[in-house]
Amino acid sequence: MRILTYIETENGKVRRSGLELLSYATALAARSEGEVTVFACGGFDNDTAACMGKYGANRILVAGSGTCPSGITARAFDIANAADQTGSETILFTGSLNGRALAPVVAAKMRAGYVSGVYSLPETTDPFTVRKKIFSGKAVTTVKINTPSRVMVLLPNTFAPAESPVNPEIIHLPDKIDRPGKSLPKGIRIIDHIKPDGQTRLAEAGVVVSGGRGLSRKENWKYVEELAGLLGGATACSRPAWDEGWCPHDGWVGQTGKVISPNIYLALGISGAVQHLAGVNSSKMIVAVNKDPEAPIFKSADYGIVGDIQEVMPRLIEVLKKYLAANRFDLT
Ligand SMILES: Cc1cc2nc3c(=O)[nH]c(=O)nc-3n(C[C@H](O)[C@H](O)[C@H](O)COP(=O)(O)OP(=O)(O)OC[C@H]3O[C@@H](n4cnc5c(N)ncnc54)[C@H](O)[C@@H]3O)c2cc1C
Repeated sequence: MRILTYIETENGKVRRSGLELLSYATALAARSEGEVTVFACGGFDNDTAACMGKYGANRILVAGSGTCPSGITARAFDIANAADQTGSETILFTGSLNGRALAPVVAAKMRAGYVSGVYSLPETTDPFTVRKKIFSGKAVTTVKINTPSRVMVLLPNTFAPAESPVNPEIIHLPDKIDRPGKSLPKGIRIIDHIKPDGQTRLAEAGVVVSGGRGLSRKENWKYVEELAGLLGGATACSRPAWDEGWCPHDGWVGQTGKVISPNIYLALGISGAVQHLAGVNSSKMIVAVNKDPEAPIFKSADYGIVGDIQEVMPRLIEVLKKYLAANRFDLT
């Protein structure tokens, strides 16, 4: 099976979600002695190539000397074109903002079947059946794709990166590509990429520390940040905490917010309303701190601490600092 993976780099570095996707593609290709082509967007240098080769990229198409067309339509055209040129029947995207925006457009252009929320390798490849999460991660379903080609979006933190070294062929795509449709929208011009406060990206973070209305006031947001810093995770919040302006960036998680699937989700002062849980149900482990032992969050939590944030958090942070001073661990 020939596979095309779309991977965005950040200053030439492949993010963890990209390594997960590449490892997924490599594992899938190995089933049929297939090959993996990467469509690389963003900065690209020898280290980028070496990293992609280490995780199994047989071929790397470097878009427009590393810079990609900024409009979704133009970029989707280039990806669909690359899939066509390389004879790729399976096109894979990460669940990043761009990945989720591009994937359905590429599927429409290729008249390919489309599945998002994929979290494991296909059950069968002929016919092609794969499992995906539905109802905000509460249930799973198996989808059969009947079209000859298919576009899939892999959920972050569901497939562990695994090395599978090869020596990739590198092809630089032309800067100017003749795209059909002169009336294409101009798209968005990317001026700069600014990463908030050196934080881990919420969508792909392994650990997420989240604060809710139970924090009571803005000053207590410091507990969320300190714990996330110690664990190397990202911060998130419930909608009321966002409305209050306690959560300085990235927005809230939930039904109307972001949907995330970290390895560990720590909910501080969050009641566990269904609309909130809709965004975090796919977490591998939920840990809750709440002063109300009857709070619904405890029904979803794997571990819970019943107590007041103001008493629990300083002690938890102190214990964790002592532990980290003596031990090394990586939860991300
Ligand atoms: C259509 C719709 C969409 C929505 N979408 C979302 C969404 O995407 N995301 C989202 O989060 N919400 C969403 N909501 C809102 C949602 O219904 C809840 O109101 C919200 O999630 C509650 O946030 P919370 O848990 O922070 O606050 P609360 O429900 O007020 O819970 C606060 C919790 O903190 C605890 N607490 C209080 N003080 C302390 C303390 N000192 N120490 C420890 N614990 C304490 C309390 O026991 C309580 O359990 C939506 C609602 C609607 C109607």
